[in-house]
Amino acid sequence: MIETHVDLQPLNTLAIAARAEFFARVENLEQLREALQFARNRKLPILPLGGGSNIVLTGHYPGLVIHQDMRGLELERLGGATQLTAAAGENWHRLVMHTVERDLGGLENLALIPGRIGAAPIQNIGAYGVELRDTFHDLQAVHIPTGELREFSADDCRFGYRDSVFKGAARDQYIITRVRLRLPDDWRARVDYPALKQYLDEHHEGAGGLTPAEIARAVIAVRNSKLPDPQQIPNAGSFFKNPLVDAETYRRLKGEHPELVAFAVGDNWKLAAGWLIDRAGWRGRRCDGVGVHDRQALVLVNPGRGTGAQVTGLARQIADDIRTRFGVELEPEPRYYP
Ligand code: FAD
Ligand code: NAP
Repeated sequence: MIETHVDLQPLNTLAIAARAEFFARVENLEQLREALQFARNRKLPILPLGGGSNIVLTGHYPGLVIHQDMRGLELERLGGATQLTAAAGENWHRLVMHTVERDLGGLENLALIPGRIGAAPIQNIGAYGVELRDTFHDLQAVHIPTGELREFSADDCRFGYRDSVFKGAARDQYIITRVRLRLPDDWRARVDYPALKQYLDEHHEGAGGLTPAEIARAVIAVRNSKLPDPQQIPNAGSFFKNPLVDAETYRRLKGEHPELVAFAVGDNWKLAAGWLIDRAGWRGRRCDGVGVHDRQALVLVNPGRGTGAQVTGLARQIADDIRTRFGVELEPEPRYYP
């Protein structure tokens, strides 16, 4: 079941050419444990892979890539909520559509996010004011060093803004095998994000009385109008996180750039990284087959199938420029491997 020198180009949405020294596609717990044992015996590093939409391959992977392909989805009625239990290899967007087609609300704002369910808790996926943690209940994961199963509650996951324990204290320690969500019956639409609100005002005379499916369709339309489809233009979504800055930095920047796009988060401010990159003149620029998307400057694209080094080189140039111009640090959102 272990393959060698496997081409990863079709398995990452940036379409970077790279190979995995060893590769295993796992469909159940037993296969996963066997793959982990194989890696332990040879002291190989492990890359758990879902849809490959939030990684940057900077070279060949000198270890074992474990492609999570476990399937299964159950819906169960509990008092006041519907519980969804999904195996890690299920497609995220398909799960969202499965719920809205049954008139279940809660996931509609997260429509069209690429990737698989097992990766959703890693960065607590979010869009249009909704995050995974809003409906998350618990997950099950295998501990990589021992092969033991462990359950994580929402508290255990320590979700934050595009963040979780799996990016911190538990980084590289677990492979998620299933995720459980609860969608409460007392659902209320969340449609105050400007781009979504504007679309609904134009197409539905506002958001009143809309179903989850109608909102999902609006989210899909808004996303399709500005985000590149990875099948056509390879990309990894937002390449940088939106930086959080203190009030003093925000006041300085707002004084220098009155049009700055920023949102209050407690005592701090979240800056729209896309605005900073656009303002610095990067939107639409191309360099060695890689570039900055012309409709959303936060997205780096790879239409010329450039190398990982070319993608990370462009990201570094942009981050250096933003630091020089605005005194703000940009941190990549996708994880670099190896
Ligand atoms: P992968 O890229 O395969 O993996 C991502 C990380 O998770 C890696 O570190 C990997 O090792 C780890 N991982 C994957 N599966 C497991 C597992 N089962 N157990 C343990 N670790 C695992 N993200 C958002 O939050 N909001 C958005 O709106 C959004 N829009 C996007 C739009 C586009 C066009 C693209 C290309 C990306 C977008 N993303 C967005 C980023 C990405 O889709 C999400 O982060 C998604 O959850 C990644 O899923 P994946 O299966 O592709 O993960
Ligand atoms: P957008 O609507 O043009 O908004 C630009 C930025 O402003 C976003 O990053 C968003 O932050 C922030 N923002 C807008 N309205 C806000 C509000 N009312 N309160 C707080 N913050 C606000 O963004 P977009 O690029 O088209 O993306 C739309 C949504 O999809 C966003 O939520 C974005 O995060 C998500 N998305 C994520 C990825 C990814 O790879 N991570 C890729 C594509 C889209 P937030 O990012 O914090 O929401």
